[in-house]
Amino acid sequence: MTTHAPQAAQSVTLPTSIEEAVAALTAMPAAVPVAGGTDLMAAVNAGLLRPAGLVGLGRISEIRGWQYLDGHALLGAGLTHARMGRPDFAALIPALAAAARAAGPPQIRNAGTLGGNIATAAPAGDSLPVLAALEAALVIAGPGGGEREIPVSHLLAGREMLHPGELITFVRVPLLHAPQVFLKATGRTGPGRATASVALVLDPARRGVRCAVGAVAPMPLRPLEAEQWVASLIDWDADRALSPDALHAFGEYVAAACVPDPAPPADGQEPPPVPPAIVHLRRTVAVLARRALGRALTS
Ligand SMILES: Cc1cc2nc3c(=O)[nH]c(=O)nc-3n(C[C@H](O)[C@H](O)[C@H](O)COP(=O)(O)OP(=O)(O)OC[C@H]3O[C@@H](n4cnc5c(N)ncnc54)[C@H](O)[C@@H]3O)c2cc1C
Repeated sequence: MTTHAPQAAQSVTLPTSIEEAVAALTAMPAAVPVAGGTDLMAAVNAGLLRPAGLVGLGRISEIRGWQYLDGHALLGAGLTHARMGRPDFAALIPALAAAARAAGPPQIRNAGTLGGNIATAAPAGDSLPVLAALEAALVIAGPGGGEREIPVSHLLAGREMLHPGELITFVRVPLLHAPQVFLKATGRTGPGRATASVALVLDPARRGVRCAVGAVAPMPLRPLEAEQWVASLIDWDADRALSPDALHAFGEYVAAACVPDPAPPADGQEPPPVPPAIVHLRRTVAVLARRALGRALTS
């Protein structure tokens, strides 16, 4: 059996500002940023990564909190899951707080950060469907004081990448002042990676329902037709109630959109039965989506 000893990085830099961090990454393109280290050090310990240098982000206080700006919150990339799970944050962005509370065991929540969750972009990353449903944007700092902003979905879909020397510094999230829900299914009881998750937010100002399904594909999926259909059923000026049948139909609609049948055989033959794992996953997504909408509408 081969074992891999953790490989010490050649240099470790601990900047105290975004500018210093970007300068350190630019000066040493082979170095990688590290925030909580929960993903990065696991990769190092598994022998999958041997960074020539590390630029620690933990001392950059400006990215460890949040601020308000024009109806948005600018969330620092260094916010930990534990911090986002606290009541004051939950009052601001309830679905992101719920996702943060559901992310891993306590030691992971204490160290792991929002920026790390996004940069890792794992299919089961708990913050990702929430950010997709909220249509959040990433503020990215780069060399020479440069800054650009991209939709989070562009990074997750691989339409845009982080360039050398760039850092995610903030996440811009609209403050909707309306119910929002995050629900997660895991393969076991207690903390665990999602087998499926659903984030659902109401946007009364735009009379919209936005939903994203996590963990069933490489990036969160938005069932846009289901969103538009159900938003058209809601009486936004009254009690926003929906019948159990409509909630059920929404769940099925979301599940069919996000967990499709396998492609039929190319030779035109009868398609084989849908595998039980797909049936189970679709049922899970349908239940999560139905419950998420039901809770959002009664909150
Ligand atoms: C046991 C265990 C359980 C876990 N359970 C869950 C779970 O239930 N749900 C979940 O979502 N995740 C889970 N994770 C994954 C992990 O904890 C999260 O993804 C966490 O948010 C990563 O943040 P970090 O600060 O530790 O990232 P790090 O490990 O420091 O970095 C991860 C990657 O992001 C890059 N990076 C970090 N910050 C930035 C930045 N600001 N700009 C650009 N790049 C950056 C790093 O270079 C690295 O490539 C688990 C991990 C472990 C080990």
